[in-house]
Amino acid sequence: MDKPEQMIEDLRRLVSVTKVITSSLSVDEQLPLIMDAVIALTNADKAMLLLFENGRYEVRAERPAPADTKSSRPAYSTGVINQVVESGEPLFILDTDLHAQMARQVSVQAMQLRTVMCTPLRSRTGIFGVLYVHASTPLLAFNERKKEIFNSLSDYASIALDNARLFTASISDPMTALYNHSYGQRRLDEELMRAKRHGRHLSFALIDVDKFKAVNDSYGHRKGDALICGIASALRGSVRQTDIVARYGGDEFAIIMPETGGSTGAPGSEISGSRILAERLRDKLNVELVAGVPKISASIGIACYPVDFPNEKEREDLTPGDLVDRADKALYAAKRLGGNRVCDAHEQAAAPSN
Ligand code: GH3
Ligand code: MG
Repeated sequence: MDKPEQMIEDLRRLVSVTKVITSSLSVDEQLPLIMDAVIALTNADKAMLLLFENGRYEVRAERPAPADTKSSRPAYSTGVINQVVESGEPLFILDTDLHAQMARQVSVQAMQLRTVMCTPLRSRTGIFGVLYVHASTPLLAFNERKKEIFNSLSDYASIALDNARLFTASISDPMTALYNHSYGQRRLDEELMRAKRHGRHLSFALIDVDKFKAVNDSYGHRKGDALICGIASALRGSVRQTDIVARYGGDEFAIIMPETGGSTGAPGSEISGSRILAERLRDKLNVELVAGVPKISASIGIACYPVDFPNEKEREDLTPGDLVDRADKALYAAKRLGGNRVCDAHEQAAAPSN
């Protein structure tokens, strides 16, 4: 029997980590906290969390960090993990020498593991990952009570990770992992409300790739898809952390730029922040993004609150839809002018109509 203080400490840790992970909706935030709690509870040499992604179990977090990141050999017992995934039952082997089947496991032998413990991470639809630890000396102090706490931690980690994964899927575009149209719309609602309330600038850009159909026609849809993903990562890597990049559909993307101003278009007026960003994005896309597919160009339309809405009543009544419409018109002006360019809202009138 272990000391009561130790038991209280373990329970306190379980409660505190559970509180934080279940109130977070970010897997990246949750993983390090789960790993820290597992190591503190077990004193194992190695703790890992694997998630079923891209058709296989992939290590998403580990403690300590791997010494050799290039090694292709898994740093865990594949046999143990397969067994847990197949049976759906937790496995606690405190001394593999006393366990005939485990002593014969190839990966257990090869890594000279004496303790291996693994629990399934389960959602309503099935097992989506595992929590795993191992040690090269038997962790004989790991008693029944600690086992219960490990199982509880694993259950709460399952709930927290499943919620976070569902939330992320609901706001993401599955192909590019950018935000999807409806989340972009929601954020635009919030940001416009904030800009109006606090008298801040807000810019919105719509980006449409020029002649994207021709890419599909000449190089096939798979290359077309790869190009869409390449465009998404170029956009993601070129904006500030506070900017929001969303895929609006097909080859159309949107950028919400809080605290970023636009130009009045008056002769001699300063180049606006949103225009500088949009020109930078246009340049970033104007390179070979996918091997074997020639560089593409894009047209960008921008609209900015408040400069593009000089009438006070219009500004007061402005809806997110009005801002999108204005950027859309600017985008089509850029297309009518031949593409591969940025147009502000006040430039739309200058563009020839078709
Ligand atoms: P424009 O210069 O007028 O923009 O011409 P465009 O060919 O780019 O035409 P438009 O923007 O109207 O249509 C986009 C095309 O992009 C339609 C479709 O063939 C292609 N597309 C849309 N979504 C995807 C996708 O997810 N993958 C691939 N491979 N192609 C897509
Ligand atoms: Mg297009």
